[in-house]
Amino acid sequence: MFYGFDVGGTKIEFAAFNHNLQRVASERVATPTHDYAKLVETLAGLVDKYDAQFAEQGQIGFGLPGMENATDNTILTVNVPAAKGKPLRADLEARIGRSVKIENDANCFALSEAWDDDLKDETSVMGLILGTGFGGGIIHEGKVFSGRNHVAGEVGHTRLPIDAWFHLGENAPLLDCGCGKKGCLDSYLSGRGFELIYAHYFNETKKAQDIIAAFYEGEEKATQHVERFMELLAICLANLFTAYDPHVVALGGGLSNFALIYEEMPKRIPKYLLPVAQCPKIIKAKHGDSGGVRGAAFLNLA
Ligand SMILES: [Zn+2]
Repeated sequence: MFYGFDVGGTKIEFAAFNHNLQRVASERVATPTHDYAKLVETLAGLVDKYDAQFAEQGQIGFGLPGMENATDNTILTVNVPAAKGKPLRADLEARIGRSVKIENDANCFALSEAWDDDLKDETSVMGLILGTGFGGGIIHEGKVFSGRNHVAGEVGHTRLPIDAWFHLGENAPLLDCGCGKKGCLDSYLSGRGFELIYAHYFNETKKAQDIIAAFYEGEEKATQHVERFMELLAICLANLFTAYDPHVVALGGGLSNFALIYEEMPKRIPKYLLPVAQCPKIIKAKHGDSGGVRGAAFLNLA
């Protein structure tokens, strides 16, 4: 049995998968906001409960919005205050009595897609989330590649490439990022970024879904905006593809529902790649919101 936990700021999603990778149990509980002992006990309590139900000890993976500090294995996170700065993995292992794995939730999203029936034979899969933020994960031969500091795939905190700056022109918006830097892709390629860029050029606040609806009605500003955004996305993705060269890219997050992306990227990206490189297959993520908990469970595969 594989147990996955997606630990978020307000709720913890649990799911158990059998050895055929079918979901056989799900549960959702509130995240103890500031009480670390209660957080550990809540997570361990779910393990105890499902061990008893399945009469076996499941293998355990956790996904959370953050990562382990590679030096002391404490948790770096903003959104789960109870876990911040705590040696969560060591404390869980001591309480549960077996090894557990912890990964960034975007890496879990990517892993979930990589283990989809259609993709599990692909050598490398990149998962990218165009949601509130822009993030991602890299899966190589069925495993998360998380790097020395567990920041591999944190593509949202790489900065705009020079081609993007030329494309945006003299009036390019230089947007602040939550990490303290300026020009991070997180502020441009996310759903939030889509809205910020629109607001910058048209001095008007509009929701992404309304801009997209206006685009499909042929409205002039929305058309201009979508043209600008699609080329920007192509430039930035091409840079990532030159660095990582994935076989398949699965897009998740709210903006990934914009169907035009899948028509435009294969046309726009190749001119920014090395001549020898082909554009990877770009598809919409299939597991969506359940990807985090699936990927967390699958940390123990392969
Ligand atoms: Zn940043």
